[in-house]
Amino acid sequence: MPYLFEPAVTPSVAIAGSDSRFPVRRVYCVGRNYAEHAREMGFSDREPPFFFAKPADAVTPDGADVPYPPRTGNLHHEIEPVLAIGKGGANIPVEQALDHIFGYAVGNDLTRRDLQAQAREAGKPWDTAKGFDASAPVSAIHPASVIGHPSKGAIWLKVNGADRQSGDIADLIWSVPEIVAELSTLFTLAPGDLIFTGTPAGVGALTPGDLVEGGVDGVDTLRHRVV
Ligand code: MN
Repeated sequence: MPYLFEPAVTPSVAIAGSDSRFPVRRVYCVGRNYAEHAREMGFSDREPPFFFAKPADAVTPDGADVPYPPRTGNLHHEIEPVLAIGKGGANIPVEQALDHIFGYAVGNDLTRRDLQAQAREAGKPWDTAKGFDASAPVSAIHPASVIGHPSKGAIWLKVNGADRQSGDIADLIWSVPEIVAELSTLFTLAPGDLIFTGTPAGVGALTPGDLVEGGVDGVDTLRHRVV
């Protein structure tokens, strides 16, 4: 039977060194996964991380302009390593979790911080704070078969050339295998899922015209302008 109208194009991300693209199914994110960032948001570093999601079509490619979103006066950057799931599963054991990862990218978990604060105070969901249009800039994905599984190295973000965020991915509260294992107890993971793994300290506001550059050593860098 024909569709009433043409279905939306499947969102996808470039794969470094390949003509193929990575089709995106879901975008999951981990909250408060660096102790120093948890503290700057007013929480202790002892709480277990938790998950939220963005729509798949919130993904925008490296280099693409990001429109300043409506209904916020406090758009924040959050530079994060991103996992690309290549093999699905549920209740994945920690020891097998790396086998499910196709590769790694660098992402910016853009956040309407004012709407997030209001939602938090009112016990309301985070969707409008986290899942808006173009809220997930992502670099090309680098296959683990090429770069391995990075477990340490600098993560950083600059705005207009000035340092904003810096940390080391070795300081994740929950490691990459633990994130995959835990998330897979809540949702059946499938090829095409992306997981934003959390941001280090130093989150801050962006304004139209800002040039955002961030990276994870051993993975890639991501650049985009806010317009
Ligand atoms: Mn985040």
